[in-house]
Amino acid sequence: MKLDKKVVIVTGASSGIGEAICFKLAEEGATVVMGARREDILEQNCEKINQRGGNACYVPTDVTFRGDLERIVKFTLDKFGRIDVMINNAGVMPLSYFESLDHDGWDAMVDTNFKGVIYGCGAVLPAFLDQGDGHIINISSDAALKTFPGGSVYTATKAAVNVFTEGLRAELSASKGIRVTCVMPGATISEISSTIEDPKVIENRKISGMEEMRMLLPEDVAGTVLYAICASKRANVNEIIVRPTDQA
Ligand code: NDP
Repeated sequence: MKLDKKVVIVTGASSGIGEAICFKLAEEGATVVMGARREDILEQNCEKINQRGGNACYVPTDVTFRGDLERIVKFTLDKFGRIDVMINNAGVMPLSYFESLDHDGWDAMVDTNFKGVIYGCGAVLPAFLDQGDGHIINISSDAALKTFPGGSVYTATKAAVNVFTEGLRAELSASKGIRVTCVMPGATISEISSTIEDPKVIENRKISGMEEMRMLLPEDVAGTVLYAICASKRANVNEIIVRPTDQA
């Protein structure tokens, strides 16, 4: 198996892309430590993976709390002695036009999509520096590259993830041997759009035809993550954009 004995932490592991990453990496032999807020789903997924002969465990984690990320890292080190890959995937997307002044939505996106990624990287870094290797994978979005009405704050958080990830690469890759990857998926079927309440955004999505489009499945993104992990140690896959074939 491609990932035999690799220890991987995944945030946002209770649904969509994060969940698919956990199943895919576990199938390839990785030990997966899953973090998210919905403990009941993490417990069920953990059982499913372990029943299939995989190796998974979970730590309830809210990425907006730095201490939660430090806790999942400590749990993993105490139990398995090392960490090979940290996948910062947790994200929210309550899109809205800025004029609706959805302060709670803004805070949730900045705190989860950007600060959550910084906290995840900061929590794992001491272990990677001690080990002299490790791989950080941040899940951004193709929306980091092209904003749209209703998406100003969401796309800004993702653009921030891109720039932050490149900054980390410049600091950590050549000098410390730590690989850093930014994955930018396009439209992917998941729960993420269920929190969109702004009627203008909902209407725009209908008009654009994106809801009828053949979107990516979370497994497609998981396959992209697997590719980056499996590249030779010489190869640091810095950025990957994976869009649906049907996405204009
Ligand atoms: P989902 O809504 O299906 O999954 C989001 C995950 O993030 C859930 O597991 C959720 O778990 C978790 N999460 C949300 N807030 C927190 C938090 N505060 N702490 C810990 N976990 C949290 O969406 P996707 O799978 O689509 O999204 C995954 C990532 O992919 C996101 O970063 C998203 O921006 C990105 N992305 C998605 C695209 C898409 O079209 N679907 C396209 C491009 C990028 P819980 O609620 O249990 O905490």
